[in-house]
Amino acid sequence: MTDHVKDLCNFLDASPVNFWAVETTRRRLEEAGFTELDMRERWTIAPGDRRYVVKNGSAIFAFVVGDGEASDGFHLIAAHSDSPGFRIKPNCEMPCEGGAVKLNTEVYGGPILYTWFDRPLSVAGRVMLRSENPLQPRSRLVRFDRPLLVIPHLAIHFNRAVNEGNKLSKQKDMLPVVALDCKESKGLIRRLVAEELGVDEAEIIDYDLSLYNTAKAETTGLDGEMVCSGRLDDLSMVHAGLTALLEKADTRSAHTRVLAVFDNEETGSGTKQGAASPVLEHILRRIVMARGGDETDYMRAVADSFMISADNAHGFHPNYGEKYDPTNHPTLGHGPCIKVNANCKYMTDADSAAVFAEICRQAGVPCQYFVNHSDVAGGSTLGNILTSQVPLRGVDMGAPLWAMHSACETASSADHRYTIAAFARFFEM
Ligand code: ZN
Repeated sequence: MTDHVKDLCNFLDASPVNFWAVETTRRRLEEAGFTELDMRERWTIAPGDRRYVVKNGSAIFAFVVGDGEASDGFHLIAAHSDSPGFRIKPNCEMPCEGGAVKLNTEVYGGPILYTWFDRPLSVAGRVMLRSENPLQPRSRLVRFDRPLLVIPHLAIHFNRAVNEGNKLSKQKDMLPVVALDCKESKGLIRRLVAEELGVDEAEIIDYDLSLYNTAKAETTGLDGEMVCSGRLDDLSMVHAGLTALLEKADTRSAHTRVLAVFDNEETGSGTKQGAASPVLEHILRRIVMARGGDETDYMRAVADSFMISADNAHGFHPNYGEKYDPTNHPTLGHGPCIKVNANCKYMTDADSAAVFAEICRQAGVPCQYFVNHSDVAGGSTLGNILTSQVPLRGVDMGAPLWAMHSACETASSADHRYTIAAFARFFEM
């Protein structure tokens, strides 16, 4: 069996941006015999079927149909495909002194800006190409595997106070340089994409392109106990859910097992492929209907379901102990965390926490709690947003990380193995 941490590193390297994370997931599902369903068509599905649905190329929903009745519940794991970073704007080329060209970008979500300085970066995403039908442009994925850009920091000699805190402008400080002596900057990115895809430049109508950190995912620490990579939030949870689903796809269960990977969590989930849309609700409902169930069966299935909303948590940072709750500060390497918030920013309650804790116990996995320091506002995640669409019973959890939203985050190798073991146990039930 492949080592789960090595496999995570391969998964991260193959998934530089949301569209590629979904493509990597899709390929692995196809290899395991999953076939795609089209939301525009009628579905026929039978117990044991392995199916998936892609939404917008950036969200994916895979499921193994249960052996039970249409009214039997779903066992779901939800995660997200997107990570904070930089999107390339239209008309992006900005010619500068001496023939240098920088690109105009817009910040996506909440990255730690200065972690993006002074490292080789590249470009990946989706390109829309002309077709016969204006309503259906062709979509092609693109990624440049070689470094193409850098965001150079200002030398310390121009700002001696830089280490005392340095406010950054997203529009001035963060623009990447792509060339030093370019004769024709206009349309440069389209020319590069056309060349990479082997298409005529005139075919390219538009693009969703992002920057990514070209550094490969790797382990560090005395015994390789830490994993460093961009996009661990939340692709490590996508990988854990996918791995568990594939490992347990042959296990018979009355419940339909679902992996739901949403896009745009980092910007509040408010898109058609995000958790605030009814996309998951539509899919669950259609699974019940395609099995001959009616509206009542759908509601019975929802009432019988359980969801693990998997998004990374903040691990206790040895340099910043004061930022953490005095009694609930998960440490890296000691298991996945149940996230708790008194004001219901997380969907966890004692009932769902008890379920997850028992799943961990049965899987032989340690489990921790994450609660915010009461004077520190925390982030939000998928669970609560999802329950406004489908009133699911469920828990918010995640493996602990350091430097969440850095261009290079750090997680624990052991926690990744623990998380997969817990998810695998859940998907057996
Ligand atoms: Zn996240």
